[in-house]
Amino acid sequence: MQAIGIDIGGTKIAGGVVTELGEIVAERRVPTPAGDSESIVDAVVAMIQELQGAAPSAGGEVVAAGVAAPGFIDAAQSTVYYTPNIPWRNEPLRARLNEKLGLHITIDNDANAAGWAEFRFGAGRLVSDMTMLTIGTGVGGAIVAKDQLLRGGFGTGGELGHVRLVRDGLLCGCGAHGCIEQYGSGRALLRMAGEVADRGGANGKALADVRAAKGQLTGPDVAELMAKGDPGALEALTELGTWLGEACASLSVVLDPQRFVFGGGVAQAGELLLAPIREAYLSHLPARGFHPEPDFVIAELVNEAGVVGAADLARLHVQTL
Ligand code: BGC
Ligand code: ZN
Repeated sequence: MQAIGIDIGGTKIAGGVVTELGEIVAERRVPTPAGDSESIVDAVVAMIQELQGAAPSAGGEVVAAGVAAPGFIDAAQSTVYYTPNIPWRNEPLRARLNEKLGLHITIDNDANAAGWAEFRFGAGRLVSDMTMLTIGTGVGGAIVAKDQLLRGGFGTGGELGHVRLVRDGLLCGCGAHGCIEQYGSGRALLRMAGEVADRGGANGKALADVRAAKGQLTGPDVAELMAKGDPGALEALTELGTWLGEACASLSVVLDPQRFVFGGGVAQAGELLLAPIREAYLSHLPARGFHPEPDFVIAELVNEAGVVGAADLARLHVQTL
């Protein structure tokens, strides 16, 4: 049985036909259309129709499509209640898609989809309890507890990016202050890199030079400097990792995962990110030394996780109907 997975991101919409083993056998990618949600819905419809046509008949029929979106989703997996970083409010996404498509559709949170894919086919496949954080424009969360994705009572559980880390902290896109997302996301990393540049000195020099030459710093600029071992870019990454590690120490008390998995673009920094996370985690961990500790790893499926997870969750949804 094959299913289609679609991952709606801030800059691109990715989609694929996915087998039961989590393999993508056909795939598509388009830039996310700017403007109203109507144009995003149209792009998703077009992609699903194309993928239905492209699905290899040898793999059996496509039984469902899962659509992952970056926001709070209802328990019926139909409505996007709220997206902090794109302006969707109470968007009846499933109904809109079903106006144009006959296929069985489920809507999921993008990090839940990515986390589920890692749990089934990637970095989380050997544990029963896994916590995933996706570090991109925002911070997404996925909780797998005793082999099940935890969605909460109203569907919006696992929004770990909006757990409060700082009292009276920075305003977040969700309307609250001091959320993990404001201290642990790709946007936060960029802000921190800018602050290192502002402070000047030897560490800030390369960041300040790039910023002066280009007018502003971008994520790829910071990533490039990190890869070259620039001390300023690494200082910003260490600050980000320190916040995330501190957050994980608190999450551990509630969720007690055997493994934390980090996905999203920023997690491509690998050990450079994990090292400060582990250090801060240990220095904030309650009852440290008297209970087992989780390990910290980078996601394995990276760019494909959202597509694979959304498809797998949609297929499982159909099978349990
Ligand atoms: C949203 C989450 C989403 C994450 C990553 C957060 O701001 O609240 O729903 O998973 O960004 O896209
Ligand atoms: Zn928030």
